[in-house]
Formats: sequence, C-alpha cells, structure tokens
Amino acid sequence: MKYIDTLVIGAGPGGYVAAIRATQKGQNVTIVEREYLGGVCSNVGCIPSKVLISVGHRFEQAKHSGDMGVVAEEVKLNWAKVQEFKSGVVSKLVGGVKGLLKGNKIDIVNGEAYFVNANTVRVIDGGSEQTYTFKNAIIATGSRPVEIPTFKFTKRVINSTDALTLPEVPEKLVVIGGGYIGTELGSAYANLGSQVTIIEGGKDILAGFEKQMTQVVKKGLKKKGVEVVVGASAKGVEENENGVVVTYEADGEEKTVEANYVLVTVGRRPNTDQLGLEAAGIEFAERGLLKVDKQCRTSVPNIYAIGDIVSGLQLAHKASYEGKVAAEAIAGENSIVDYLAIPAVCFTDPELATVGFNEEQAKAEDIEVKTAKFPFAANGRALALNATEGFVKLVARKEDNLLIGAQIVGTGASDMIAEMAVAIEAGMTAEDIALTIHAHPTLGEITMEAAEVIIGRPIHIV
Ligand code: FAD
Repeated sequence: MKYIDTLVIGAGPGGYVAAIRATQKGQNVTIVEREYLGGVCSNVGCIPSKVLISVGHRFEQAKHSGDMGVVAEEVKLNWAKVQEFKSGVVSKLVGGVKGLLKGNKIDIVNGEAYFVNANTVRVIDGGSEQTYTFKNAIIATGSRPVEIPTFKFTKRVINSTDALTLPEVPEKLVVIGGGYIGTELGSAYANLGSQVTIIEGGKDILAGFEKQMTQVVKKGLKKKGVEVVVGASAKGVEENENGVVVTYEADGEEKTVEANYVLVTVGRRPNTDQLGLEAAGIEFAERGLLKVDKQCRTSVPNIYAIGDIVSGLQLAHKASYEGKVAAEAIAGENSIVDYLAIPAVCFTDPELATVGFNEEQAKAEDIEVKTAKFPFAANGRALALNATEGFVKLVARKEDNLLIGAQIVGTGASDMIAEMAVAIEAGMTAEDIALTIHAHPTLGEITMEAAEVIIGRPIHIV
C-alpha cells in the first residue's frame, strides 16, 4: 500500500490549490476527484458563467453603441459558436489544472471518496474500489444547487449548471432568487436577448451589498428590460411542451408569469452528506457545513476542510486561500485564515465589488469611520468608455484614515477592487492611496480621487 502524507478530496479551486501547496511543502500528495478537475468553478461555475456574461456584454454593446457613432446594422448571435467558445475556454483551464497537478507530481485518482475512519478512505470508480490510507486529509468537496420541493429540476425547471448549456437563448426566462448567481445569469441572458423576470423573496436583490450599490445594478437591469420583483414568494410551476408557468405571491396577490425556462438559484448545499464523515468522527456546524478552526482543521486533528463546505463566502478565491492555509498548517506552519481583505465580486452589468468593512458593518463593530464617494461620471476614462454609471466608496478609520473597506459599482469594478484589497492587507491609509500616482486616464484614478476626498484635498470635485 502506498504511503500518503496528504490526501485531498475534490479537485476544485480549494482542493487542487491545497494539493499543490502541500507538495511545495514537501508532502507526498494524492488527490481524489469524482467528476472534473477544476471543480465547479472551472467547469460549471465562475468560468463558463463569465464567458456567457462577456459574450452577452459584447452583443449588447455591438447593438447599442449608436450614441458613440457605432452603427451596426445587423448584429447576430451564433449560439452554437458561443457554446463552442465557452467549452474551449473551459477545456484550456481544465487542461491547465491537470498539467499543474502532474507537473507537481501529485497522484490523481478518479472516483468518489468515502471515509472508512480518520486515516482511511475508500474510493469507488464505477465498478472498482480501492482503499487509501493517509496521515492527513483535506476535504474540498464543494457544493451543489439547492433543489426545492415545489421546483424539482426538469428540462424546463433548471439550475445554474443547466443554464450554462441551454439549447437556445430563451425568449423568456424567469429567475427565482436574486442572489449573485441568479442576478449574474439573469443579466447575461437579458444582454443575450431574453426577456427576464427575477423573483426575489427578500426585500432586495443582492443581499449583502449596500443598497446604494444595488440601486445602480437595478437601474442597469431595468434599462435591459429585466423585471425585478422583490418581497415575492415563488409558489409553484406548471410545465408544458414549450415552457413553464410560474406562480408567485407578491403584494398579497397571487400572480403568474410565463417563460421558456425557470432558473432556480436559491443557494448551494455543501457536499458533506455522502462522505461517511461520521465514520471519521468529524463534527458538523450549521446547514451541513463542517466545523473548523482558524487553520481549517476539523474536530478530527488530522483532517482539514476548506471552501464551500465551511462557513463564509462561497467563492473560489476563498476556497483557494483556505487550501493554502490548510496545507501550510499540515506542514507545521502558523498560517491562519484572516478574511478582512477578501474581496467579493458580482459580475452584473455594471459590476459590484466589495472588500473589508462597509459603512454599516464598521458602525456595527463600533468603529468610527470617514467615508467618501467619487463618481465614475467625473472620470475621463469612464466618459471615453461611455460607462459613467457607478462610484467608488471608501471607508477609513476616523482617527488615522486607515483604510478598512471599499465598495465599487461600475465598469471594471472586479479588477479595481484588487488595489483596495492590497491596500487593506498592507495596512495603508487614504493618504497612501492619494499619494500614489495613478496613470491617466484610467478607472484606477477614481479610487485615488475618493482617497483625496477622505483626506479633504480633492482636485476634481468641489
Ligand atoms: P468545488 O469547486 O465545488 O469543487 C469540489 C470538487 O469536489 C468537485 O470537482 C467535485 O466533483 C469533487 N467531489 C465532491 N465530492 C467528492 C467525493 N466524495 N469524492 C471525490 N470528489 C468529490 N466564485 C467566485 O469566486 N467567482 C465567481 O465568479 C463565481 N461564479 C460562479 C458562478 C456559478 C454559476 C456558480 C455555480 C458558482 C460560482 N462561484 C464563483 C462559486 C465557486 O464556483 C465556488 O465557490 C468554488 O468552486 C468552490 O470551490 P471548492 O473547491 O470548495 O469546491
């Protein structure tokens, strides 16, 4: 039997990154994967959804750039080609993950892992079964879409995975759940030409982002003809040959909406229920998540858990970050997780991005803050791009201008947030940002200008 220092279960952005870091630390590593290298993120999550989002954006821009003098007579979408392009991007990334694992001499085992005890797993691949014994394990089995009893998944009642491979762009699409996955996909299909209705149970879509930010996204959705119904409860669906009729309750009234498909995005459930975790003695936290400490160690000291199966944001970069911490902890290092500077991005149109504290969260922690906003509309590059909706908002500690948070809504927010994450991680103040020379004309100047507002010396705003 082969001796394994560290066995990793799941080759998503958590697992494969943990495996590579563990080999960098001198460990002998085996990774077990039942479906696809790269996990949900590369195959049916972040990457394919971003392909549809960018294709939708280009399509929409090609059709609607008349005010910039671009007159496109007939802009067409070749859906088969879009799907082919998407699959090409996915294969390149999955191939890259395989190459990295092999290059790092990590053994890849295909199959589904189940714990036999705290040092042994059984891996089942089709008809064959193999047992592996390890010193340490990292569980990175990710999550899957939640299915609700009144909306069982079918050909027309679909989840986010199905939404990435529809046979055509639907004429009408209903999205249940206005979280980031539903709003991103709803926005992408609206750009691709669908008439979209988003039904959200809460007071607003994109819970967790500040209202002043989501207002900008809602304005963008409205411009695309997306109907957003909030405070609504989805009751049921009737399916026919060509589509669905969805019933929901809003403002005390029962209403219906017809569509070709209904996309249900009401959350993701951790893959912790079919792993035999009880046999290893691992304790659960709430909602199927696993209990871990700051080094991602479960209640069983030689077994770690990372990514979507532990609490916090269900995001790829969080899974990778935890993967590195867990691998370093196994190697005896003092690495611990610190989520203050972890960014969260929503790839709507325009994009939303946040890092650190927002104003409300800072107040809840009794931190006295100064905030400043600078609009995209006052930036030369944003004007040249014809992308003037949005703002950068900075949150700094009042006593010393230490930057503790940033929120950005607007074109390019997903890239701009990185500078703010670095600033928070490095303990920079608003002066540091204001004194850093930013190239002109760039969207990056907006953050510099917001920092100048914080320190009371703005140039381009009165
Ligand atoms: P996963 O990526 O889910 O990987 C887990 C792997 O474990 C899978 O490959 C699975 O097959 C394998 N596995 C499970 N059980 C077993 C077993 N018993 N034995 C062997 N293998 C097993 N996040 C972002 O940061 N940015 C985005 O833009 C973004 N967009 C998204 C869009 C969509 C449509 C979706 C669905 C998700 C998106 N996410 C995004 C979330 C992101 O995909 C997840 O947070 C991330 O993939 C979690 O990584 P993970 O390693 O924990 O798990």
